[in-house]
Amino acid sequence: MPEELIRRNREWAGKVHDDAPEYFEELSKLQQPDYFWIGCADARVPANVITGLQPGEVFVHRNVANVVHSSDLNLLSALDFAINGLGIRKVIVCGHYGCGGVNAACEHGHGHGLVEHWIEPIRALARAHQKDLGDLSSEAARDKLVELNVRASVNRIADTPIVQEAWENGESVAVHGMVYSLREGYLYLLENSSRTA
Ligand SMILES: [Zn+2]
Repeated sequence: MPEELIRRNREWAGKVHDDAPEYFEELSKLQQPDYFWIGCADARVPANVITGLQPGEVFVHRNVANVVHSSDLNLLSALDFAINGLGIRKVIVCGHYGCGGVNAACEHGHGHGLVEHWIEPIRALARAHQKDLGDLSSEAARDKLVELNVRASVNRIADTPIVQEAWENGESVAVHGMVYSLREGYLYLLENSSRTA
């Protein structure tokens, strides 16, 4: 029930008030996060929780399977505001092993409804890397596809006019790929995935 959320909120806010009476007053005056996080909407991958960051420390955009569509107005607006409004210089694209969106893209047929349109770039990636990936029903292949999807999203973010323009203006924006393991609770930086000016 929604009342449960109110009760939990009062409990949490009460604890914060007790520990740091100025906390909310200070936070309400300024939003100055260091990171823009693009991650999966999966409930098990909340950016603040898995990075150990406090409210105000990370600006977040999440969607099914952390796909970057070059014409996604929602993501582009958030990216523009992150870089040009908030002055964020570190953009993180984070995928996770066991991603339901990536799993759906590995299955035969197109039986998942509207989300099939959303995950189409992941199916395209799977086709392009068919030889490398092998049997898409194996966990190893799906893990690899999760990583390929993160790398593709990093590159699509780096290629947006927003990031290209920031680089042309000498801004030190960096885009990094990360992957999270649901089983371990650990985040990993994807080797050679970073894009900088
Ligand atoms: Zn996911």
